[in-house]
Amino acid sequence: MKRYWGILFLMGILFDSCSNISQKPMMSSAESPHPYYSRTDTTPLNISNETWKQLLPPDVYHVAREQGTEYAFSGKLWNTQSKGDYYCAVCGNHLFKSDAKFASSCGWPSFFEPIRPNSVLYKEDLSYGMHRIEVTCARCQSHLGHIFDDGPAPTYKRYCMNSIVLDFVPEK
Ligand code: FE
Repeated sequence: MKRYWGILFLMGILFDSCSNISQKPMMSSAESPHPYYSRTDTTPLNISNETWKQLLPPDVYHVAREQGTEYAFSGKLWNTQSKGDYYCAVCGNHLFKSDAKFASSCGWPSFFEPIRPNSVLYKEDLSYGMHRIEVTCARCQSHLGHIFDDGPAPTYKRYCMNSIVLDFVPEK
């Protein structure tokens, strides 16, 4: 009988590990809003929109997964000048530092560079009859905003982001 239960236990472990091969949830902590959120893991995620819809607040989901845009001057971070770090509100990926944030009159939080060149990805966006470059999170591929060529030195780029997809952590 003992042997029977042992085999069942092993089968259970095998099935569980097989079913999670493609994407295993990260360790959850008190600060994590869901199991895939991590501020240290940079491994790309491959999570379906169906799953994100269950995990994210509707307003975050709309911008992050449906390429939505918050109204100018409406977000919580467009005018923030405090020192600190900006993380992806969807997955926790470290995206920007306050050192690269600048006061822009556009009404959205604006940065001249990401914290690492590979923390974001770029994609051509031809929606609404415009030619723009979309910026997405390199870890979870969520929409963050767009990049424009009218930023300040040293890069002359403006990463025009939506506040709602950014988590700001003030410096202590
Ligand atoms: Fe992300």
